[in-house]
Amino acid sequence: MKKNNLLKIIFVSLMMVVLIGLAGCGDKDKAKADKNVKTYTAVTEPTFPPFDTTDEDGEIAGFDMDLMNAIAEDQGFKVKYKSLEFDALIPALESKQADIITAGMNAEDPARQAKVDFSDTYYDSGLVVLVKKDSDIKGVDSFTPDMAVAGQIGTTSADLVNELKADNKIAKAVVLNKNSEAIQQLENGDIQAVIMDQPVAKNYLKHKKHGQKIKTVGEVLNAESYGFAVQKGNKELQKKINDGLANLKENGKYDKIYKKWFE
Ligand code: GLN
Repeated sequence: MKKNNLLKIIFVSLMMVVLIGLAGCGDKDKAKADKNVKTYTAVTEPTFPPFDTTDEDGEIAGFDMDLMNAIAEDQGFKVKYKSLEFDALIPALESKQADIITAGMNAEDPARQAKVDFSDTYYDSGLVVLVKKDSDIKGVDSFTPDMAVAGQIGTTSADLVNELKADNKIAKAVVLNKNSEAIQQLENGDIQAVIMDQPVAKNYLKHKKHGQKIKTVGEVLNAESYGFAVQKGNKELQKKINDGLANLKENGKYDKIYKKWFE
């Protein structure tokens, strides 16, 4: 009897040693696999809600990040995010300091296409005029040559305000680092209008503190399509992003992320 018990104890001990060994291997394999997963650096300018903003912990968050993270999961890579001023985003890719731009960036701009490659479109947008609540300005056609109008540096909005100034349609093109600064100056009465992407203007107006003071006027201007930018020639990453985006649109994850940030 005693011999049987001894054999049983030896057998159970051996099984435990094998199981602990296997678990250890499993952890090691997982760590090794994780080590092999490529992590790309993405850059953004996070005063562009709901695409690119910061959460209550100050972490970079938004529609662009959730969409890129879902693409990364679908395609087996990881992404870490850094914030830069908008006009520093493309130089960061050109100098190979970053791999991806996730910043609601218009992909249909030839000057940009010469420096970086874009993914397929992930959002169709356009520009809109913001003015103070009590303003008589009806849109860009009712701008007057005494006005100061703002747009964010390096963006299609800045391009438009500089164009209006060059055509003497306005007195001053005010180019600022952040959309939030432009909103502040408009609300303070330092400038008479802001040009900004329509979905972002709508997001700012959702917040009472802005919605009570400013409004959008006129039609959506200069339709544009947002793409994720990659370093010029990085066809491998561009394809991963395009394939991942197509899969998310197919399997409903794109719609789920859209609902989270826009509805
Ligand atoms: N869509 C605009 C552009 O591409 C603005 C982008 C932004 O401010 N993040 O220039």
